[in-house]
Formats: sequence, C-alpha cells, structure tokens
Amino acid sequence: MDFKLTEDQKMVIDGAKKFAEKELAPNVEELDAKQEPNIPALKALGELGYLGMTVPEEYGGTGFGAVAYAGVMIELSKVDAGTAVGVSVQNSLVNDAITMFGSEEQKKSYLPKLATGEWLGCFSLTEAGAGSDPGSLRATAVRDGATFLLNGTKNFTTNGAFADIIIAFFSTDREKGSKGISAFIITKDTPGFAVGKHENKLGIRTSSTTEMVFTDCRIPAANLLGQENRGLSIALGTLDCGRIGIAAQAVGIAEAALEETVRYAKQRVQFGKPLAELEALQFMIADMAVDIEVARTMLYRAAWMKDSGAQRFTKESAIAKLFASEMSHRVCHKALQIHGGYGFMKDYKVERLYRDQRITEIYEGTSEIQRLVIARSLLAD
Ligand SMILES: Cc1cc2nc3c(=O)[nH]c(=O)nc-3n(C[C@H](O)[C@H](O)[C@H](O)COP(=O)(O)OP(=O)(O)OC[C@H]3O[C@@H](n4cnc5c(N)ncnc54)[C@H](O)[C@@H]3O)c2cc1C
Repeated sequence: MDFKLTEDQKMVIDGAKKFAEKELAPNVEELDAKQEPNIPALKALGELGYLGMTVPEEYGGTGFGAVAYAGVMIELSKVDAGTAVGVSVQNSLVNDAITMFGSEEQKKSYLPKLATGEWLGCFSLTEAGAGSDPGSLRATAVRDGATFLLNGTKNFTTNGAFADIIIAFFSTDREKGSKGISAFIITKDTPGFAVGKHENKLGIRTSSTTEMVFTDCRIPAANLLGQENRGLSIALGTLDCGRIGIAAQAVGIAEAALEETVRYAKQRVQFGKPLAELEALQFMIADMAVDIEVARTMLYRAAWMKDSGAQRFTKESAIAKLFASEMSHRVCHKALQIHGGYGFMKDYKVERLYRDQRITEIYEGTSEIQRLVIARSLLAD
C-alpha cells in the first residue's frame, strides 16, 4: 500500500493552495457577505487547468485524476468552500458526465472549452418536488422530429447563474417513471431557457444557486447525453464522482477549522493560562485531528479507486462523503465551541466555516441517502 502522492500530484495541490491564499482569501469575506460568486477566480482556475483535472489530455484536460482533484478541492475549500463547489461541479458533475456518457462528438465539442474554463457548466437534476427522489421529476422532454421540446423548472442548481452549459434531466417517458428519464446538454443561449430565482443561502454564499426554467425550449436530438431513458443511471453514476469532491470539500473546511482552533487556543488566555493548556480542550483538539485523518484516508481511497478505473466505487464514495460531511460537522462544532463567544461573531473565520460545512451533509445526496446507497450495495447480493 502506498500513501505517497506523486511529485506531480504534490505540485498541482500546492499550486491550488497558493492560488487560494493569493486569489480567494482576500475576497472571500466580502463576497460571502454580499452573496456573490467569484467568477474571475473560477475562470482563472480554468486557465490554470483546475477545471479539467479528470478530463483526458486528448480532450484538452490535464488528466491529473481524482486523487489530485481531491487534494485540490481540500486546499480550495479550506479558504473558500463556495468557489470550491463551483470547481467540483465543473470537474465532477459536468466534465465527468460528458467523459463517461458523451458521444465522441460531444466530448470533442464541449470538453476542451469546459476543461479550460472558457465555458462554465452546471448539473440540474433537482426539482421542487424531486430532491432525494430524482426519479419522480416532472420536467418533460418531448421528441419532435430531430429535436426535443423541454418544459419544466429545475431548482437549487449550483453555478446556475453563469453556466454556459447545462446538463439537465427530463422525463422522456412518464409511464416508465424513473426508467423514463433522459439527460440533455443545453447551451444557455437556447431560446426558451432562463435563469429563475437566485437562492439566498445560509452558507457557501460565494457559490451561485438558482432555478433553471425551460419553456418550450427546443434543442437538437443530438444533445441527448447517453441513451434515451437512461438518465437516472447517468445521474447516479455522475454523483458517484461528485461525492468525492464534496467529501474533499468537507475535509478542507474541517482542516481550516482545526487550524483556526489551534491558533486561537494558543493565544486566548483564561484563568491565567492559554486555552491550549486546558486538558479538556486538548482532548477536543485531538479528537478533531483524528476525525479529519480518518475522513482524509477514506476520501483518497475512493479517489484512488476512481483513478484505477478497474472497480466500481459507488459504496466507497458514499462512505467517504457520509463520513467526511458528518466529521466536518463535529469538527466545526468543536472549533466554534473552543472559540467561545468570539466563534459566534463574523470577525472570526470559524463562524463562516460552521455555516459552510452544513451543506456537505445535504447536497449530492443527504446523509440519509448515503446510508441507503451504502446499505443497498451491501445487501444487493
Ligand atoms: C446549496 C445547494 C446547492 C445544490 N446544488 C444542486 C445542483 O447543483 N444540482 C442539483 O441537481 N441539485 C442541487 N441541490 C439539491 C440537493 O441535491 C437536494 O437539496 C438534496 O438532494 C435533498 O433534496 P431535498 O432538498 O428535496 O430534500 P428532501 O428529499 O425533501 O429530503 C428531506 C429530508 O428527508 C430525508 N429523506 C428523504 N428521503 C428519504 C429516505 N428515503 N429515507 C430516509 N430519509 C429520507 C432527507 O435525508 C432529508 O433529511 C443543491 C441544494 C442546495 C441546498
């Protein structure tokens, strides 16, 4: 067993750390307060190759793979988890979906632009009445000659406000229910498409979350992604990849919370000595570090399985996402507690980390859904 990162992986992860410190850190508090995405940073990350990490080189990506991507997501999330999720959506939910399920023509026409950040993308599965149960979605795609006519509203779409490319899921055969869903690639300038409500959120406020509205939106049949009526498998296969990104986001937020806490505990004096000398708090800090180590190991294992290409990693990515997100909750809770009243104030970074962490337990499948995925894969045979 080899736990070492290669020199290339170390270099690309270190580059993300430097980028985050230089380009994200100076703006994150202001953008969080204004609830504004850092689009210039996303574009710059694209130019540096960070939006095409799992795209093969022949389609314009860097092909660094999931392990390096996980490390990059940790570094970006430590500083700005909202911008980091934009990176995750592009790499996992958009690029991986097209790489795994797209036709040769689709890969050639979309991936080079997505991998370099010339185009930004989003993934629109959820609807008001279809969250944990995407099989019950109501939006429709009706075939009409060599086109499909799209109607319906998607909600809670990350990157929705500025995405050039939308991967969205529609019912193509209502009678078949979850087996009658298809995936499509839509460009933002298609008549009949509009960005709807912009959500006002508790955390990851430097990400954009919007409704996506389709009204008699006509697209070429060639924009079908994968086979007709196989959309749910495409969504679930893509989310296996996405959960690696979210697990990494959770680890990054927790690492930042631990670092803030160590710094604070050494400097804050009560009862005549630094908090760091109180054994009760030392134990909390030790537990935080152990929790993070376990999650990081699980995360890299799932990422390594994806890179090996030889095995399914549905269960492992669900385990990594479930553990890492709940771990991040525990760690951020302790971090805020050790900061006392100051942790509740916006002047201290742990206040934002505490808010940003919460979403990792919800999107790309709630913790309850991860448990269902894990149990189903154990009980399948
Ligand atoms: C900030 C943000 C960004 C998002 N980005 C995207 C995106 O880019 N693309 C996209 O398609 N979606 C996105 N989502 C949607 C997200 O994936 C869903 O919110 C999530 O899957 C949960 O669905 P729901 O909110 O409808 O909750 P519900 O499905 O209504 O669940 C409510 C509660 O019931 C529980 N529950 C539901 N079913 C079961 C069950 N069978 N067993 C046990 N418990 C169950 C859930 O775990 C949860 O606790 C985003 C959401 C947010 C908040």
